[in-house]
Amino acid sequence: MKLWLDGGLLDIESARVSVLDHGLTVGDGVFETVKAVGGRPFALTRHLDRLTRSARGLGLPEPDLDEVRRACAAVLDANPMPLGRLRITYTGGISPLGSDRGEHGPTLVVALGETSRRPDSTAVITVPWTRNERGALTGLKTTSYAENVVALARAREQGASEALFANTVGQLCEGTGSNVFVVLDGEIHTPPIASGCLAGITRALTVEWTGAKETDLPLDVLERAEEIFLTSTLRDVQAVHRVDARELPGAPGPVTAKAMRIFDERAWDDLDPQDPG
Ligand code: PLP
Repeated sequence: MKLWLDGGLLDIESARVSVLDHGLTVGDGVFETVKAVGGRPFALTRHLDRLTRSARGLGLPEPDLDEVRRACAAVLDANPMPLGRLRITYTGGISPLGSDRGEHGPTLVVALGETSRRPDSTAVITVPWTRNERGALTGLKTTSYAENVVALARAREQGASEALFANTVGQLCEGTGSNVFVVLDGEIHTPPIASGCLAGITRALTVEWTGAKETDLPLDVLERAEEIFLTSTLRDVQAVHRVDARELPGAPGPVTAKAMRIFDERAWDDLDPQDPG
């Protein structure tokens, strides 16, 4: 398996990042996970836009997107696989202990892992911890994901694949790595970006293609929604069949099933033909 580091391809076993990398020592980095089907990255331009926005938000130098594109293409070429997940990581780079970001410049790693299509439905839990809708990192896809790791571990303990957060004012926000949608009176709703959720790429496409409304939703909407579904790069549109102790028999329900179908049909065709992803 080959990955991209320091401007070229390397065997994954011999690729080394410094122990003084600010991404490792303080989580000073940003990342993207991009799906690749048959070696073709999905929505790469949107992912690179978000990488740039996240880097700006952290005050990192702008990533060289030509290099990132070259890196993605090289890694995909070197590791053919039917369904892959590209992981682009961009950090503050080497910084001597106790100092601010160093002068060595940022670190860019592009790696690829194999993945598989997710089941049509899944179980989720809610967690008592909150997302801060007004934090310095709100809306940025940073490598400071430890809170998500903790929440996801709790979900796994309870036989679920995702944990959902409310924000500090008790509104439904998002999952550890997904956005959430609910169906109320047959209409699809999802929390607005102001709730503190990440501007998910799958979320944006789903809103555009299904006409879902962006609505402030109390957390307890999960107790009465007719249907619930998640969106993310690796899940696409995925129905929820259990939330905490509540079962949603028959998931995916009709509205979710339609959203799944629309996503599957339009996902590749509707994207910019100039963009290989
Ligand atoms: N929310 C969080 C916290 C995430 O990490 C992700 C995954 O990237 C998402 C939502 C879903 O975003 P996307 O559809 O771009 O994968």
